[in-house]
Amino acid sequence: MANSQAVFNPHNLIGGTWKPGSGEHIQSVNPANPDDLVAELSQADNQDISRAIEEARMAQQEWWSLGIIKRGIILRSVADLLSERRQELAELMTREQGKTLAESLGEVDGSAETIRYHAASSRNPMGKTYPSSFPGEHIEQVRQALGVVGIITPWNFPTQIPSWKIAPALLWGNTVVWKPASDIPAISSEFARAFHDAGVPAGVLNMILASGRSASKLIESPEINGISFTGSVPVGQMIARTATARGAKVQLELGGHNAAIVMPDVDPQFAAAQLLVGAMSGTGQKCTATRRIITVGDIHQDFVAEFKKQVESLKLGSGMDPTTTTGPVISERAKMEIEAAVNDAVSEGGKIVAQASIPSESGFYFPPTVIEGTMEIRTCREEVFGPVTTLMNVSSLEEAIEIANATEFGLTASIFSASDSDIQRATEELQAGLIKINAPNTGSELHVPFGGLKDSTFPGPREQNSESVAEFYTNTKSVYRRVAPRRNT
Ligand code: NAD
Repeated sequence: MANSQAVFNPHNLIGGTWKPGSGEHIQSVNPANPDDLVAELSQADNQDISRAIEEARMAQQEWWSLGIIKRGIILRSVADLLSERRQELAELMTREQGKTLAESLGEVDGSAETIRYHAASSRNPMGKTYPSSFPGEHIEQVRQALGVVGIITPWNFPTQIPSWKIAPALLWGNTVVWKPASDIPAISSEFARAFHDAGVPAGVLNMILASGRSASKLIESPEINGISFTGSVPVGQMIARTATARGAKVQLELGGHNAAIVMPDVDPQFAAAQLLVGAMSGTGQKCTATRRIITVGDIHQDFVAEFKKQVESLKLGSGMDPTTTTGPVISERAKMEIEAAVNDAVSEGGKIVAQASIPSESGFYFPPTVIEGTMEIRTCREEVFGPVTTLMNVSSLEEAIEIANATEFGLTASIFSASDSDIQRATEELQAGLIKINAPNTGSELHVPFGGLKDSTFPGPREQNSESVAEFYTNTKSVYRRVAPRRNT
């Protein structure tokens, strides 16, 4: 990578070669400075995608034959290379995606660590043995790669989400066709470059810089044996219908409408500081972000006053400025969609109680905003993917849990309380795959199973944890083995 103002001309990685696409011409720009052109390219068309699938199919047997320990060693080299390139990758991530440099550095480090974790799991036990009713018989479960896996990822975590998926897919002997989001072609191709440069063999990881529309080719192809997708609900549901109908294995991580409950016995300043992270870190562009805050009883005024102070002290700006706490949103379109949702929420009775200020320079800035409202307003009915959260006040924990659960989603939920019995009750009754107690809704450990309930995740198993991902990226066989007597000759 050259200086930070270089314009990238990213190509697809197909069969170990960087190939320009033959489809529609697109550009990516710096969300903090739209005059800064980051990348321009011709997207992959259907033929490019077919070639990538074919290369992945041809490479799969040899990659599987290397054995899991060798594959783990190669993945470890990828992680080391990402660590070596962390500064340039993080700067590019900030330039193209908008998050702060501290967030980008954290993400690149987390991605390397994720890959290292999966690489190390190559030495874990691989299957199970079972007792048999027949003396002398051994029964074992063995794992085999699915074959070729399609991976489709969003723009909000340009290297972390791909790492969660690509590392275990490759470790288990699959080859991959990866389609990153169209908004971030430069950082995606530099991430793929680490795999290429670290010695992942040709055809094992293919990356296609394609539009969402043309990715339907991946979903429909009979050569793709499994699809792992993170993104929005409508696209996920379409993938589930199409891919499962043809017998492919599907794993979907979709949206969230995550609630946090603030009980009256907790320090409001502490709860506000934690929920500032939950609602506003990553400029609110996280599936796990706190979208609704439900205070219980008389803490409401104190909490609102404290939360307002903290939200209004956020400093928006370019992610490259070390004093910036909150970067821009991903695009002009995203900014307009968030603005429209907030305007609708206000016209439906919501009241803006806190709003940070935005910088005067151009950039896709939307001010972190707190709305006081009800479950009927748009910001509570829909996942608004930005720095916006809605506050409500109720009189009991029971009511708070009922409101928290009143959504089709079930990704994360949190409770702030000093009472063991309230925490116990919330843990049991909140309908979410990730429950946080006295901590922000956002954030997870890379080795702990991750995923939601209800419409947030389909159909599981969960991501991240090495045993959970093995369930998705392999098929199992139950093998019954007895010893045959030798023939007398
Ligand atoms: P999106 O669904 O628009 O796009 C995600 C990916 O799907 C992109 O690569 C996109 O190009 C591709 N895509 C779009 N249309 C497609 C189609 N018809 N066929 C195949 N691929 C298609 O989502 P987004 O706007 O990039 O991301 C935001 C959404 O992702 C939010 O809903 C957020 O909650 C969700 N998300 C979920 C998690 C999680 O772990 N649950 C994590 C991050 C983001």
